Amino acid sequence: MFESSERAFKEASKYIPGGVDSPVRAFGSVGGVPPFIERGEGAYLFDIDGDKYIDYVQSWGPLIFGHCDKDIENAVIETAKKGLSFGAPTQLETELAKEIVTLFDTIDKVRFVSSGTEAVMSALRLARGFTGKNDIVKFAGCYHGHSDSLLVQAGSGAVTFGSPSSPGVPADLTKHTLLATYNDLESVKKCFEESDDIACIIIEPIAGNMGLVPADEKFLEGLKELCEQNGALLIFDEVMSGFRASLTGAQGITQVKPDLVTLGKVIGGGMPVGAFGGRADIMAKLSPEGPVYQAGTLSGNPVAMAAGLASLRKLKHNPALYVDLGKKAKRLMKGFKAAAEAEEIPLVTEVRGSMFGFFFNDKEVKNFDDAQASDTETFAKFHISMLKKGIYLACSAYETGFISTAITDDMIEETIIAAYEAMREIRD
Ligand SMILES: *Cc1c(COP(=O)(O)O)cnc(C)c1O
Repeated sequence: MFESSERAFKEASKYIPGGVDSPVRAFGSVGGVPPFIERGEGAYLFDIDGDKYIDYVQSWGPLIFGHCDKDIENAVIETAKKGLSFGAPTQLETELAKEIVTLFDTIDKVRFVSSGTEAVMSALRLARGFTGKNDIVKFAGCYHGHSDSLLVQAGSGAVTFGSPSSPGVPADLTKHTLLATYNDLESVKKCFEESDDIACIIIEPIAGNMGLVPADEKFLEGLKELCEQNGALLIFDEVMSGFRASLTGAQGITQVKPDLVTLGKVIGGGMPVGAFGGRADIMAKLSPEGPVYQAGTLSGNPVAMAAGLASLRKLKHNPALYVDLGKKAKRLMKGFKAAAEAEEIPLVTEVRGSMFGFFFNDKEVKNFDDAQASDTETFAKFHISMLKKGIYLACSAYETGFISTAITDDMIEETIIAAYEAMREIRD
């Protein structure tokens, strides 16, 4: 196991910083070498050493139908035969836009980009352009892509003006980012007391990047009220939760209506697609209709649109699939919890639709501080032990896991049995 991957990782590291094109792939927080992937098939990943894994990462969210879904695959192949990109409008963009506008009652118009990062970055610019204000409120532990003003470290409880969490981001750019605490309305009120220049609040309404931590309904209602009172916009970043927590993401669960929504991951069916959309009067400010500039050479790429369309239509025509995915996620988490209890290891779990999360923690996790109080060393041991048993989980204690339609009840059972063994090993 892992021998070929070790060689491949060494080779990759000669030419690519850290051997990877996105940092979390390097397995830094759990140690060891990332398996290099040869191919996927349904629920399974196969690495270059010939090992087979049940995949609960699914390319970090996009692959809700698992690997090599025939409908998506055919849509991609047929579209690619007609040309890969034109830099001119195609009807595929309108078709996908129409699907999204009909699906979300909060989205009157939508624009496509090529990643979640781009979607959020553009939505923020639009919010600032629309309100004529500069500051933004963001929550510790929420991830919104790697654009400058959003790369701000988690503060510890108190509201602080953000400082950049990466060299290369000038403090001048992040001084407009105000940090608040997830599920703590008082911390958001403080931001509005400190600044009368707030353009928007951006939130993952179901946080998936500090582990899985849903927002309380009352908290979301409070955010909406604060925005209305202060002339700020509420942005739901549903790049991860969209088409995952339910067909309409967190918005299928909460009654609170955002002004702008960002989408990504599942929306591209495995191809690079992001999107942002919202109220017509706000979207009308976007270039070329309005003055707020935003563009992209490969935005609305036909092959990516075709993949997105194929997967969205499949989701729309099978609404019951979320019930099944949710049942499996709950069964899996119940199994992990029982496996941990059998060895007296503290574990808390969470499920939203096809998303699941677990913390080696004895308290319920409501915010980033709670999440960080979890035992990451035990997580690392659990992760490597599961990997060796053919279970591919996200390689960080602060990620969310996903169920795809390709995952069967037998696979869930196999995973739970592996979890019992892994917990036993941790205990010994
Ligand atoms: C993944 C993610 C992003 C960034 O999307 P990329 O496609 O990786 O740029 C933004 N917001 C949330 C909530 C995400 O989960």
